[in-house]
Amino acid sequence: MNGLTKLSRSSKLVRMRRKRIKEIFAGWIAGERVTVAGWVRTRRDSKAGFSFVEINDGSCLANLQVIAPQELPNYAVEILNLHPGAAVTVEGALDRSEGGGQEVELKAAAVKVLGHADPLAYPLGKQRINFERLRELPHLRARTNSFGAVARVRHTLALAAHRFFDERGFLYVHTPVITANDCEGAGEMFQVTTLDMKNPPRLPDGSVDYAQDFFGKRAYLTVSGQLEGEAYACALGDIYTFGPTFRAENSNTRRHLAEFWMIEPEMAFADLDDDAELACDFLRYLFRAVVDERMQEIVFFEKRVNPGLAGKLSRLAVATFERATYTETMTLLEKSGQNFEFPPRWGIDLQSEHERYLTEKVFGRPAVITDYPAGIKAFYMRRNDDGRTVAAMDVLLADVGEIIGGSQREERLDVLEGAMLAAGVDPGAYRNYLDLRRFGGAPHAGFGLGFERMVQFCTGMNNIRDVIPYPRAPRLC
Ligand code: ATP
Ligand code: MN
Repeated sequence: MNGLTKLSRSSKLVRMRRKRIKEIFAGWIAGERVTVAGWVRTRRDSKAGFSFVEINDGSCLANLQVIAPQELPNYAVEILNLHPGAAVTVEGALDRSEGGGQEVELKAAAVKVLGHADPLAYPLGKQRINFERLRELPHLRARTNSFGAVARVRHTLALAAHRFFDERGFLYVHTPVITANDCEGAGEMFQVTTLDMKNPPRLPDGSVDYAQDFFGKRAYLTVSGQLEGEAYACALGDIYTFGPTFRAENSNTRRHLAEFWMIEPEMAFADLDDDAELACDFLRYLFRAVVDERMQEIVFFEKRVNPGLAGKLSRLAVATFERATYTETMTLLEKSGQNFEFPPRWGIDLQSEHERYLTEKVFGRPAVITDYPAGIKAFYMRRNDDGRTVAAMDVLLADVGEIIGGSQREERLDVLEGAMLAAGVDPGAYRNYLDLRRFGGAPHAGFGLGFERMVQFCTGMNNIRDVIPYPRAPRLC
C-alpha cells in the first residue's frame, strides 16, 4: 500500500516536469535544466568516463543524446546495463553538442531507470528489421523510426480532415458500426452475433432463427456510413463521418484491409460537380497539412522508402486534377496500345493497372473520372439522362490508384425504386432510405475517402498494413 502511494507520487512528478524532445529541438538555451522521459535507442560507452545514451520519446523522429558521466551513483550498476528498449527519465542541463550529428545534448545529473529491457529478449535491437517481421510485433513496432513517423503523419491527416470540414461548416456525425442493412455489401460483410455457433436456435426448416439473436435479426459490421450520413445531410445540410468500416472481401493486396477508416462527407443541395470540387479541395488540403506539419517525417520516408516524396506532396498541394468521363477514359485506354492484363472495354470496371497507367503515364497528375456505366455501380447513384451511365466519380492517385469513390445520389423516388429492383435489392428493406426521397427529396452528393490509402500515399509506405496500428486482413488479426 505504502509502496504504491510512493510510486504514483513520484511518477506524477516526472510527468509534470517532463519536457518533450520535440520541444527541446524547437528551442533551447545552454544550461537550461530539463527532465526528459523516453526509451533508450542506443548506448555507447566512452573510455573518457561517460556513456552516450540516445533516447526517443515519440514526440519526434530525432533522438536526444544524453551524456551520462561515470560520477552518477548508479553508473556502474544501472547505466552500464542500459539496453535498447529501457525506459528512463533523465534530469540534467542542455548544452551545445561537440560531436557531429546533433546540435544539442543533455548532460545528465540523474538518470532514473524506470524499466529495463533484456537485450537477449528485446526484438528491436540495433539491427534493422524488415516490415514483414515487424508486422508480427504490432505492440512494439511503434517504437521504430518508421512506425513512429507513420503514427505522427496519420494523426496530422486525421486532425487536418476534421479541421477542413469544420472550417467549411460540415457537422461531424457518428454513424453506427453495427448495422442491419445487408444489401449494399452483400457477401463481404462480417456478421455480428451472440448466438452459440455450435448450437444455434433453429427454425422448423433447419435454418438459423435470428429472431433469437441479440438484435432480433441478422446484424453486420458496417461497410460504409453513407446511408445514415445521407439522412443527416438531408436534415443538417453538410455532414461528414469518420469511422471504422469493415469488408470481409478476400483481397490480399497491398491496398486492402478488412478493417479500415473512411471519411465520408455528404452534402445536401449539391451535384456531382460540387462533389468533385470538394474532393479535390479536400485532397489538396490534406497534402498541404502534411507538407507544412510533417516535413521531418516526409524527408525520412523519402530516404527510407520513397524517393521524391517531398516534391511530389508539395506539387499535389497545389495541383489541378484531370477531369475525364469514364467513356473518354475507356477510349483512351483502348487506343493506348498497352498490353493490359484486363483489356479495356466499355462496361468493365477500371482495374488498378488502368488507374495507374492513367495517372502515371497519360495524365501525369491525379484525376477525377466521372459517369460510369450504371451496371458496375451501386443502385443509389443518380441515373444520367443518357440512360446508361450514373453520376459517379472516382478520384485516382498515382501508385495507390483509387483514393476516393463518390456520387450524386438518386433523389427521385421512382427512379431509385426502379434501380433497386434492377439490382435485385428489396425496396422494402430500405423504407427509411426511400423516406428521404418521399419527404422533401433534395439533390445531394458525397464520397468516401479511404483514410489508410491516404496515409499510405503520404508516407510512401508500400503496404497498407503498415499504416494502421493493428492491421486486420485475411488470416491476420
Ligand atoms: P477498390 O475498388 O479499391 O477495392 P472500392 O471501390 O470497393 O475500392 P469504395 O466502396 O468506393 O471502395 O470505398 C471508398 C474508398 O475506400 C475507396 O476509394 C478506397 O480509398 C477505400 N477502400 C475501399 N476498400 C478498402 C479496403 N478494403 N481497404 C482499405 N481501403 C479501402
Ligand atoms: Mn469505389
